[in-house]
Amino acid sequence: MVTAGATAGGIRRVSILGSTGSVGCSTMDLVERNRDRFEVVALAGGSNAALIAEQAKSVRAGFVAIADETAWPTLKAALAGTGIEAAVGADAVDEAARRDADWTMAAIVGAAGLAPTLTALRQGRVIALANKESLVCAGDLFVAEARAAGATILPVDSEHNAIFQVFEAERRSGIEKVILTASGGPFRTLSREAMASKGLEDALAHPNWSMGPKISIDSATMMNKGLELIEAHHLFAMPEDRIDILVHPQSVVHSLVAYVDGSVLAQLGSPDMRTPIAYALAWPERMPTPTARLDLAALSQLSFEAPDPVRFPALRLAREALRAGGTAPVVLNAANEAAVAAFVDRRIGFIDIATVVEAVLETLPVAPVADLEAVIAVDRRARQEADRWIDRRYGHAARVASAGGAD
Ligand code: NAD
Ligand code: MG
Repeated sequence: MVTAGATAGGIRRVSILGSTGSVGCSTMDLVERNRDRFEVVALAGGSNAALIAEQAKSVRAGFVAIADETAWPTLKAALAGTGIEAAVGADAVDEAARRDADWTMAAIVGAAGLAPTLTALRQGRVIALANKESLVCAGDLFVAEARAAGATILPVDSEHNAIFQVFEAERRSGIEKVILTASGGPFRTLSREAMASKGLEDALAHPNWSMGPKISIDSATMMNKGLELIEAHHLFAMPEDRIDILVHPQSVVHSLVAYVDGSVLAQLGSPDMRTPIAYALAWPERMPTPTARLDLAALSQLSFEAPDPVRFPALRLAREALRAGGTAPVVLNAANEAAVAAFVDRRIGFIDIATVVEAVLETLPVAPVADLEAVIAVDRRARQEADRWIDRRYGHAARVASAGGAD
């Protein structure tokens, strides 16, 4: 299992799906600092042709895929004369996932990441999994496919990476609980009334982490922690009632595992995704990173508080969806993606995001998840239902005036 991660010469052949995003750029940063350890066989991104071309040239990538057809002329021109192979469209992204690698970073955002992540998983290699939506929507399927293909899933999400580091999988009976920490986001101390007037810029202003826009908004609603609850359930085979959530505003303790003897093991670090990414990149070894070192003496305090499911209903919705099982988490995720997009477009206000998700969860029946096609069909249906609900409530393409919102 471990030897699959490295070739004879010690060079790890890697592919990065979502290389132009926040996690993708952090991964590229580590690869660029360690050119002697990694060979980049493929990069894939959504639409930023200029950036992916620059990345491909800097690491002499073997293959570059871009999903957005309109980005193709720019990519083609930027790579002309370099000898770097490139292609466009969803098939090209899938090809990038199939290219022979030892290790793949799955960092495409949202349900768009499901199919390419599954393709990479089916190659039986090491998958550094950032795309939490894969496990939220199709956790049982992905875990079974990974087992069948002999693939190893390494969690990149900082909380799950922390748990992975202190979780003794071979001594599961000694584990009482896993405890996911949450920063609480930018609206941690606000009342519902105060949240209602918050706009896009406010929701994007995460106090500790620099991340892509979707996950930043999910942190503000705390849906991110709800998705991570479902992610943890699949990664660690823990039942919902043995996964706790604890608000920890400093984001220093990344998560904890409680054992039956009363011991609690935690992983700490500064909030920089390059630490969990490096853990996955070098696994089972460790590699140096330039991240800021923790200065515990300088930290005035580490504080913890219980989350408030009334002010943050997304936490309750995620627990309910996990308990309901089947397609419920797919609906939760898709309705949330549609609602976040509507919030970004200023069609709905901040606290409407969870209201939309709850309405769609109540509307669509729960069914078992058969395969990825079924997941994708339910995902589409839930997005349509969310859009219909928003249109009914707010009128087609209405704009909501929100204080501090960006145009
Ligand atoms: P991001 O928006 O910054 O980047 C997303 C990447 O996906 C970009 O490269 C984009 O071009 C690519 N992409 C989008 N649609 C695509 C498509 N159809 N085909 C191919 N590529 C496509 O997002 P991010 O913050 O880097 O997050 C990526 C994933 O990692 C998400 O699932 C997120 O939940 C998870 N994650 C992120 C962080 C973080 O610190 N940013 C932490 C934990 C987990
Ligand atoms: Mg996280």
